[in-house]
Amino acid sequence: MECSHLDSVRVAQLPEPLEGCEECLRTGDSWVHLRMCLACGKVGCCDNSRNRHATAHFRETGHPLIRSAEPGEDWAWCYEDDVTLLLQAS
Ligand SMILES: [Zn+2]
Ligand SMILES: [Zn+2]
Ligand SMILES: [Zn+2]
Repeated sequence: MECSHLDSVRVAQLPEPLEGCEECLRTGDSWVHLRMCLACGKVGCCDNSRNRHATAHFRETGHPLIRSAEPGEDWAWCYEDDVTLLLQAS
């Protein structure tokens, strides 16, 4: 399985400091894991979180690739292709 959306990647580095899910911070909700959109850098929460903001962001924008924003995790996920990718350490 391959991903054909790698040319949509604009932001690969996690924000410093990483504050959390932007939407949950605004509404005072909590999250389980953090994900970051690789097209625009938006940080959202995972599908185990109550609000699933990372997936909501994909539905709204069509940005297909997210990466884990958890410490030590360097995988990305493509919603369109249903495929996990490993990011190069940079
Ligand atoms: Zn893809
Ligand atoms: Zn959230
Ligand atoms: Zn995005």
